[in-house]
Parts: sequence; structure tokens; C-alpha cells
Amino acid sequence: MSTWSFSSSRLFRKCQRQWYFKTHVAAARAKDPYRREAFLLSKLQTIYAWRGSIVDQVILMRYVPTLKRGQQILRSDLLKYAKEIFDRQLKYALANRLREEGMKITEAGDSFAAFFSVEYCEEITQKEIDIAWQDIELALDNLLSMKDLYARLLEATHLIPQRSLSFTIDGVNAQGTPDLIAFFADYPPLIIDWKVHTFASNDYRLQLALYALALTSCKPHKDFPKDPLCYQLTELQLTEIQLLTNQQRHYQLTDTDVYAASNYISRSALDMNLAVDPADGEISVFDLPTASNPDECQRCSFRSMCWK
Ligand code: SF4
Repeated sequence: MSTWSFSSSRLFRKCQRQWYFKTHVAAARAKDPYRREAFLLSKLQTIYAWRGSIVDQVILMRYVPTLKRGQQILRSDLLKYAKEIFDRQLKYALANRLREEGMKITEAGDSFAAFFSVEYCEEITQKEIDIAWQDIELALDNLLSMKDLYARLLEATHLIPQRSLSFTIDGVNAQGTPDLIAFFADYPPLIIDWKVHTFASNDYRLQLALYALALTSCKPHKDFPKDPLCYQLTELQLTEIQLLTNQQRHYQLTDTDVYAASNYISRSALDMNLAVDPADGEISVFDLPTASNPDECQRCSFRSMCWK
């Protein structure tokens, strides 16, 4: 059983085959061409998802480090870096460099991007690209306008972005990567999740509860200033930040939320185990059910392998 995560559980619910391609077949260093192909396809992004990843990267590489130094965050610095990686990644993706012989993502560094539309020969219009850039600008402008957030984060003793937290719950090996963990001298940690969605209708309470569970259940990392176990889960501060709609949603967990989050992991992991552990021998991706909603196939990176 591969490590459980919230994103893999969501994928499993959408399509078990897609989940299996991503979590069991795709392997970066595989000599087997089938697994290598699955790995390459797993890197495809829609333009919509890509513009969100650019915002994440700017926050990771510019916003948080500047905050850590206690310096003023300049709009021009954020946008300059955003435009640099936007242009480089756009060029890389449009040239379909994913398909270059011997391509290594580590060598491409922050120039790497691969577009679903390029792989599947769909047109990408200049309008789509312009909208992607406008969304990135808007998301960063909204972030800079959140002065209360900035002041709150300035008080942190430690800011830890994109940290993978491994933990075991009810015998399930799980992993979660909160966008940002802020530790404070006198009060419980804050977990932040950035979202770059046009329609911020989803409730991300469960996802943040899972991150809270991860933080309080993982072995504390060396650079954590305090053992997060000294706090009750219900004491943690959780904030979802919708960068396109300029909204912040704060959550305080209840015991019911904590129970629901643990239960969600156990049930989801059990379903995954049952799917890949048939009594009658080795599993093939084609033994798994297809997506219940056919629209899912139109956006699926693994379509070429699944439909072969
Ligand atoms: S093409 Fe459709 S059925 Fe096949 S893996 Fe993708 S979403 Fe699932």
C-alpha cells in the first residue's frame, strides 16, 4: 500500500484507474517504458492548475523568505520573479520539452512545466495565457493586501513552508504537506492553505483537519521550535486563504472534526487496499473501475494509456 494522502484520496474517489496510474505505475527512474510513460503523463497540468502552481512557487521562494528576514515585501519583487518563471515555464511547456530524450525534471529546475493541452494536441490560445497571468497578478495583489495576515506571520518565530509530514494513524501510513506552518512563542501553531480558485465554493475544513492531525501526529522535525504534540488538535489555528477571491476562512476544530478526519483516513485507506488487493492474484490497472463521471476522462492525464 502506497502512502496515503488527501490528494490521493480525492483522486481515488474521482477515478480508481487514474489513482492507480499516478500512485502505483508512475515511477521517475523506471527503466520500464510503461512506467516511465506514466511518470511523464503524471507531470501534465492544465493552464488553470499551472497558474496556481506559479503563485505557490512565488510564495515559497519570495514571500515567505522575505517575511522570515522581517523585511518589507515589495510587489515589484514578487511580480518580477513570477513573470520570470511564468515566461520560462511557458516556453518549456510549449516546446514540449517533457518529451525530449533523457529529460530530467531536476535539471530543468524551476523552468519545468508540461501542459495537458500540448500533450493532447489541443489549442492554447493567447487569451488563456493572458488570463493565467492576470490571475497570478490578482492572487499576488490580494496576498499583499492582507495586512492582517502579514502582521500575524511577522509574529511567528518560525515559518516552515511546504513541509512533508509523515504520520501513522490506525495502522495507515499517511502524509500531508501544509502550504505553511507558523510557530509562535506564546500560542499554538497556525496552518495555512493557499488556494488559487476562481470559484471558492469548496469547504476545505477536512483538508485542514488532516494537516492538523499530521502536525500533531508526526515525529517533530529537528527545526520545529516546539513539540506540536504539546497542543491539543482543537487548539491549532487553521486558515484557508482564497487568493483569487481575497477571502480568509478561519477554522477551529472540534472533537467531532478530529474524529471525522481520522475516520476519513481509515475508510479511504481501507477502500484503496481492497481495490489493489484482490484475492485472485496480481492487479492490473484495467481491473479497476473507470471514472463514474465521463467528463473526468476529458481532463485526465493518463487518457492515452487508459484508452489504448
Ligand atoms: S481516462 Fe478516464 S477512466 Fe481512464 S484513468 Fe482517466 S479518468 Fe479514469
